[in-house]
Amino acid sequence: MSRERLYLFDTTLRDGAQTNGVDFTLADKLAIAGMLDELGVDYIEAGYPGANPTDTSFFAEKRPAHAKITAFGMTRRPGRSTSNDPGLAAVLDAQADAICFVAKSSDYHVRVALETTEEENLASIRDSVRAAKAKGREVLLDCEHFFDGYKSNPAYALACAKAAYDEGARWVVLCDTNGGTLPHEVEAIVGEVCKHIPGDHVGIHAHNDTEQAVANSFAAVRAGARQIQGTLNGLGERCGNANLVSIIPTLKLKAEYADKFDTGVSDAALGHIARISHGLDDILNRAADRHAPYVGESAFATKAGIHASAIVKDPATYEHVAPERVGNKRKLLVSDQSGRSNLLAELDRIGFAVDKDDPRLSRLLDEVKEREAIGYAYETADASFELLARRLLGKVPRYFEVDKFDVSVEQRINAKGERVTVSMAVVKVKVGDDVLISAAEGNGPVNALDVALRKDLGKYQKYIEGLKLIDYRVRILNGGTEAVTRVLIESEDELGESWTTVGVSPNIIDASFQALMDSVIYKLVKSGAPA
Ligand SMILES: [Zn+2]
Repeated sequence: MSRERLYLFDTTLRDGAQTNGVDFTLADKLAIAGMLDELGVDYIEAGYPGANPTDTSFFAEKRPAHAKITAFGMTRRPGRSTSNDPGLAAVLDAQADAICFVAKSSDYHVRVALETTEEENLASIRDSVRAAKAKGREVLLDCEHFFDGYKSNPAYALACAKAAYDEGARWVVLCDTNGGTLPHEVEAIVGEVCKHIPGDHVGIHAHNDTEQAVANSFAAVRAGARQIQGTLNGLGERCGNANLVSIIPTLKLKAEYADKFDTGVSDAALGHIARISHGLDDILNRAADRHAPYVGESAFATKAGIHASAIVKDPATYEHVAPERVGNKRKLLVSDQSGRSNLLAELDRIGFAVDKDDPRLSRLLDEVKEREAIGYAYETADASFELLARRLLGKVPRYFEVDKFDVSVEQRINAKGERVTVSMAVVKVKVGDDVLISAAEGNGPVNALDVALRKDLGKYQKYIEGLKLIDYRVRILNGGTEAVTRVLIESEDELGESWTTVGVSPNIIDASFQALMDSVIYKLVKSGAPA
């Protein structure tokens, strides 16, 4: 059976850039465009030339890519000609393969927001499409507020879409701008539109305000649309855009879509989608969502004992797709609910061959249970678990010893008369016969301790140079005066690999110190540092 082509249009760099707290630099934009191109999307909407310096410089020279680099902009302003509209000129002149215009398609917005007539809005769409085609660009029209507009005045919403299509736009994209339309409505309306405009010229642009942007995108495809617009990790203003990182694996791994459609994403590229998703988090300096479908760290994590023993026999028992297909991995959580099969499988994953009747296995299981009872969380702190297992099996070298540390917090008035709080830490470490003393200041006691500890580890320093802390989470357990503090630290190395360590103590500095030590030692083990 021959398959139909379904096109993917990414707008991380344009709509995603609208997100609160997101401010891409030019270097960020280039890096993201590179990842998108590697993934195999068909269009990369790179920004709004003329609107800000970053977007303008992105287009200043044409970037080589397989994907079509797309400029975004508004149709000509009402009452102006295309040759007398500087905003439009910047978009037309940008070095882009395609131009995506946005135009109102709701009579209400035309009247209230644009303050013009319905006919002038249609003329603006026709004129802008014609001007971009004259420049040799492929043209798309984003029909803003299409679904809300269609519900109140279907004839006008359709007239806007038709105006662009009849003028030769390659794509007419139906936007659920406010994100409130539900899947059955999307399916019905797109079905109607496809009676007037062929589906292979219709796209869907869904926002996630009812957490159904992905479902709405698929609803549109079922009704005939053949282009999906979305962003990496669903980045976008308010609740985000349709998440391509969820859409792409579904398109490629679920028979309903995989049997019917081809996309530009190869099986090999799909195997990198987890890394690409986490790459965006890195650029944004955010911790990855561990529960993200397909790519989250917990997406293929199993906890309960019965499930785990079944999963070891046949992964298909509790997994809807194979984690390797999307570059993720199976994870069997070691926790107080876990049985021996969990533990064996986890040990196997980290490279320990232990016989299932080995008495050390019971010791390890008891140790894990005891420690979890007082607050350790080994299902999250995979690296601390690995160290615990290695220690009980006798395989962690004593690289260095921390003889003592001292942390102080001082609040005082500085020279400018401002009240400031400064922290200082001194750490005394023994590496072989060398005694090393490091001191550091930090914005808080844990930061000072971290900087001092990692300042000088003698011959091991080179192994931890690329180590950085990317997340630090504190939780108070039990409450009251008996309270203990659990600290989870997520670290990353120069290869982009990350791991989590845990510390538990009534004292937050001590709990942090345990987690920091585990992180450093784990890195040394992982790097194969000599004892
Ligand atoms: Zn949007």
